[in-house]
Amino acid sequence: MSELKFNPDLCLNCSTYSCLTKCINLNYDFESAREERVKIALGEYSKVLEECYTCYGCEEYCEFGNHPFYRMAELQESLGVKKIDDENRRALLQRYDVEGEFIPKKVGGKFVHICLFPEVKELIRGGLFEGFEVIRGRHVFCNMLYLHYGMISVVKDRAERTIKNLQKLGADGIVLYHDECYAFYKSFAEAYGIKVPFKFVHLFDYLYNRLKDMEVKPLGLKVVYQRNCSNRFIPETDKTLDKIFELIGIERVDREYDRERALCCGAPFVLSKESGKLEVLQKKNLNDMANSGATHVVFNCPMCYTTLAERVKAKGLTPIIVSELCRMAIGEL
Ligand code: SF4
Ligand code: SF4
Repeated sequence: MSELKFNPDLCLNCSTYSCLTKCINLNYDFESAREERVKIALGEYSKVLEECYTCYGCEEYCEFGNHPFYRMAELQESLGVKKIDDENRRALLQRYDVEGEFIPKKVGGKFVHICLFPEVKELIRGGLFEGFEVIRGRHVFCNMLYLHYGMISVVKDRAERTIKNLQKLGADGIVLYHDECYAFYKSFAEAYGIKVPFKFVHLFDYLYNRLKDMEVKPLGLKVVYQRNCSNRFIPETDKTLDKIFELIGIERVDREYDRERALCCGAPFVLSKESGKLEVLQKKNLNDMANSGATHVVFNCPMCYTTLAERVKAKGLTPIIVSELCRMAIGEL
């Protein structure tokens, strides 16, 4: 495994410290941000390692591509900063490990990778996904989830195995449904110099190109978007979502907690049992959604959907997954 591409000198001489001054969870001013980031650059303990909500936002905020979150995740682990108690840590380590060799049921063709979510399988249907096979499960799981718990070594240790397993599909192309999987192959692999020997595409790029060839009925809806944490690693894909919305006649209503100020759905804090953080995040986010004037809340991450859908409904809004919204636009729903 290669080393993280991180340049401490960039942080020691930074002119912005925006990786921390823009963080909406921690509220650091320039001087305090500088002080803490210098410690992190030097590999020393910083209170930010404890306070961090693991929203990955700083990866997006750093204008210099210096991987501030991955750096923090490395230090959280090497300096023993606990983001989860020992018992849950052991259980989590086991939960997504694999036994035995991965033998694909089908080799060759087109695949949609749906991460670990069995419920997404029924969404891969209709004209949008004609001719695609679905792949999911622990053998092809990217393990990026461990970044929320100060366990980045698990992602690194399992990376080669995951990539080799997916390579066995001999696919013509793999559409990655979950942002987190795409972030692994795009952001994480690039940050650690890992080669990915197959073609992969983000769901939004796939959907946009597919919709351009189809008859689309503008939906005329006002929506708010729940931008998930992993999308912070791959912010270019958020622009593709805007293009999809434009194509299918959707207005993405401006609100406080979207785009660079997106809030985590709170799912990581269910497992780490930090109910205080969970409540604060969800309350701010749901009130903001409810006050936006939108009728729908659009999700891409299945985990955000599972975590927030019922609470969104309780606010009088309709939760919907992006790909289902696209199916509406081609008259399938
Ligand atoms: S991570 Fe980026 S923005 Fe933050 S201090 Fe380093 S160079 Fe500056
Ligand atoms: S990961 Fe999120 S909460 Fe943590 S320092 Fe970066 S922006 Fe702030």
